[in-house]
Amino acid sequence: MEELSTFALDSEYVASTYRRFPIAIKEGKGSRVFDEDGKEYIDLGTGIAVNTFGLCDPVWSYAVSKQMMLYQHTSNLYYTRPTARLAQLLCEKTGMKKVFFGNSGAEANECAIKVARKYACLTHGEGRYKIITLSGSFHGRTLTTLAATGQEVFHKDFLPLTDGFVYVSPKEPEALRPLVEKGDIAAIMFEAVQGEGGVLPLSKAFVAEMTALAREFDLLLIADEVQIGNGRSGMLYGYMNYGITPDIVTTAKGLGGGLPIGACLMGERCEGVLSFGDHGSTFGGNPLAAAGAVSIMERLDEECLAGVRERSAYIFEALSGADGIKSVSGMGLMIGLETERPAAEVVADCRERGVLVLTAKTKVRLLPALNIPFEDLRTAIEILKEACASGTEKENA
Ligand SMILES: *Cc1c(COP(=O)(O)O)cnc(C)c1O
Repeated sequence: MEELSTFALDSEYVASTYRRFPIAIKEGKGSRVFDEDGKEYIDLGTGIAVNTFGLCDPVWSYAVSKQMMLYQHTSNLYYTRPTARLAQLLCEKTGMKKVFFGNSGAEANECAIKVARKYACLTHGEGRYKIITLSGSFHGRTLTTLAATGQEVFHKDFLPLTDGFVYVSPKEPEALRPLVEKGDIAAIMFEAVQGEGGVLPLSKAFVAEMTALAREFDLLLIADEVQIGNGRSGMLYGYMNYGITPDIVTTAKGLGGGLPIGACLMGERCEGVLSFGDHGSTFGGNPLAAAGAVSIMERLDEECLAGVRERSAYIFEALSGADGIKSVSGMGLMIGLETERPAAEVVADCRERGVLVLTAKTKVRLLPALNIPFEDLRTAIEILKEACASGTEKENA
């Protein structure tokens, strides 16, 4: 019997929720990826900001393998060292006080929403449960985090969503106060840089208004650091670039470096909100994922972050004003390009030329490994520039 190709098997049996690129990955090392046909690529996508130090990074792989030889899972009924150590690292590096572990960004955000609701209820009584989120935001795919996601395209066909979310445009900080003054707002949830929304950093004006209102009305600030967090912004967490301290920080993606983990960090004001039985997750804080995450957190030191900023500066410099590129946005190693050619065409062209990049809305999105070798980065950026310039007027002239 002839074996079906990976493409054929997948389209026959896997739910068609993903529009996949026509590549079946076979293996990878660092920022290099090989497909089943043996073609080599430089990876500027890291599995959507997950493989923090690239594929099969030796330090991360060793940390996970070492744990794998001890035990893979215990349930949350027992204490486990990697999980406790990870919580310690997260708290020490951020000043947060307690951590709840889940398995994904959506779960981390679900936890944050529960904490915000309970905090508001305990502190201000019932009826103060609404959470302001931003238009263009992305917070996950569960029905509640979908409701938090301020993009209607994700909502349609799934109504009714969880009640209790109101949306404000990040371009209109002045719209915050009238909403907050109604008295039913518990929290404001934001991404320091919107990822899926088009790689857009939050304006200083919005952050200033949001933090002022949070202080005045005792609202919790929830930073969704699922994508921009864990070193990607050039600081440990994206919000740190704004000099603010949120009450809740959620993260996932790059924290695990490739294994599923999500974390909801709670600060001083809400560290005691959750008590026995309030929340849980069978796999949450799984020791394998936690052991890998510990190795990631231990490496995100000032030297590593300086390396992120250096690579970022190089990319901004190389791409700003380049042929076929209308704008460059983002922060650190989360970068969006507005291109003259449709983003999907640039992505396909790059792929043919051996570079993997992503899209975000109408933009081309780059999320390289934080330690991508400069040589690979330079090669990939040259290829990307060629792809952006090709077919544009200048080239045809
Ligand atoms: C990816 C993402 C999520 C959802 O994370 P999952 O692990 O897919 O549930 C939430 N928030 C932001 C900002 C994200 O980028």
